[in-house]
Amino acid sequence: MNNLTGTLYIVATPIGNLQDITQRALDIFSQVDLIAAEDTRHSGLLLSHYGIKKPFFALHDHNEQHKADLLVEKLQQGINIALISDAGTPLISDPGFHLVRKCRQVDIKVVPLPGACAAITALCASGIASDRFCFEGFLPAKTKARCDKLESLLEEQRTMIFYESTHRILDCLKDIEKVFGEDRYLVLAREITKTWETIKGDKVSALRSWLEEDPNRTKGEMVLIIEGIQKQDNNDISSQAIKALKLLVKELPLKKAAAIVAELYGYKKNELYQLGLEHLE
Ligand code: SAM
Repeated sequence: MNNLTGTLYIVATPIGNLQDITQRALDIFSQVDLIAAEDTRHSGLLLSHYGIKKPFFALHDHNEQHKADLLVEKLQQGINIALISDAGTPLISDPGFHLVRKCRQVDIKVVPLPGACAAITALCASGIASDRFCFEGFLPAKTKARCDKLESLLEEQRTMIFYESTHRILDCLKDIEKVFGEDRYLVLAREITKTWETIKGDKVSALRSWLEEDPNRTKGEMVLIIEGIQKQDNNDISSQAIKALKLLVKELPLKKAAAIVAELYGYKKNELYQLGLEHLE
């Protein structure tokens, strides 16, 4: 890298409470030549709150690939750029990936400035295992695709983190209940760091009823943290096999259902029979 090349700073901004900006972020905003932002009007208001006025460059999902080339040219001309998103950490369900990849390919220095991220903030307060987790972003908007995605996560033992919107939260919980079962424990973290911050954990069926009781509870921005399957509870019997057993016991005596599932999935009949006695009857 020559001395004339600019630096790309990836700067996290608050997810609600404006006091959650870092001192380093404010210093970098003052030093850079240009701020690349998703919504320049929204970010203009944010930065004017901190008394910062800088030229903006619009970089959003649908123009990122093309605009990233222009930004790389500017960086190569020695211009220093801060990338921000509407809220939280850029690139996390937000634009920036193509730009960062291009910068790294042509050896432009990329400096990350850590700060707020809704997924991590929600996880920290959820009380669900935080030692191993996966971030799945937004689930698909349509029920079929959403259920397919959830099915693909049936065996997931790690904690799962999703972003969800106010319009889809109830449909989404219905699908989680259908695919993962009504007893799956999850936490809804809504409006984190804002006035109506609510962090509520329960079995999916109970959480859905709680939301249905008061439409205000479905409003705002939200993160869902879902507990992974607890294999040790069921002697390592896969959740697919448990699901099959659950379906079959609705139609057949447990003994018969356990025998069929044992045959299909290669478990011992007794193991499944015992599981059925303990959890399904
Ligand atoms: N890059 C951001 C981050 O670091 O968290 C996420 C951007 S994504 C487009 C926006 C989604 O993040 C929202 O729909 C919501 O699911 C989640 N989110 C953002 N702010 C939130 C908040 N204050 N409380 C709960 N969820 C939030």
